[in-house]
Amino acid sequence: NGTDDIILSAKALTKRFAGFIAVNGVDLNVRRGSIHALIGPNGAGKTTCFNLLTKFLQPTSGAIRFNGRDITALAPAAITRLGIVRSFQISAVFPRLTVLENVRIALQRRRGDSFDFWRPQRVLSAYDEEALSRIEEVGLTPFANAAAGELPYGRKRALEIATTLALEPEMLLLDEPMAGMAQEDVARVSALIRRISANRTILMVEHNLSVVADLSDRITVLARGEVLAEGSYGEVSKDQRVVEAYIGA
Ligand code: ADP
Repeated sequence: NGTDDIILSAKALTKRFAGFIAVNGVDLNVRRGSIHALIGPNGAGKTTCFNLLTKFLQPTSGAIRFNGRDITALAPAAITRLGIVRSFQISAVFPRLTVLENVRIALQRRRGDSFDFWRPQRVLSAYDEEALSRIEEVGLTPFANAAAGELPYGRKRALEIATTLALEPEMLLLDEPMAGMAQEDVARVSALIRRISANRTILMVEHNLSVVADLSDRITVLARGEVLAEGSYGEVSKDQRVVEAYIGA
């Protein structure tokens, strides 16, 4: 039954900071292969949720399951090894290295090979074939030999996504992928996210609601740490409580 194919779930997820409940009993079910968006006004608890799901923060209570396995007690590195990768974790792009060199390094790190930071050109060309295919996947082939630091903003984001894909995530958590982006880059990165979602699951926090409407299969709306609504964009955008939460924010 495809509708029951949940890759990541949170049950009654709760995070309390000294006297303040940032995330309060959140249930979340992300279907395998979907693009799922987490939205809500500022302070809703979206970032805290991401931090809990990737175990950057330890939940006060609640449970997280990935592929049916309880991962609530795991450390961030173990979560990554299981196949959940958050975009910023490895989005440190080395500006003076080329696009190709950056992706090679990401591949090397995945395999745990040692890397000589002072002589990056010594990175084994054994990674080239896979690196070039990741670069092609994100549309950066014409920029393969360009310095990462000289790429336009949207292309840099594409490179970050390529280095993330090098870790072979089954599930990708994207933290505001469109933040600070010009309109033409938004369109390009949207197309890229759609393309890479073909064989991966994506959970994203995104403020640009037209991007959310365009990309998401399913949306969870948070407000004041709680789930306010869940459904398709059409469903949640008609929900009076959602409209009020955004207006009241
Ligand atoms: P969002 O990402 O939706 O804007 P956050 O998850 O960043 O929301 O924050 C939710 C609430 O939790 C906010 O009121 C914020 O001030 C509070 N919060 C987040 N992190 C901490 C922290 N480390 N200590 C105390 N309060 C926090």
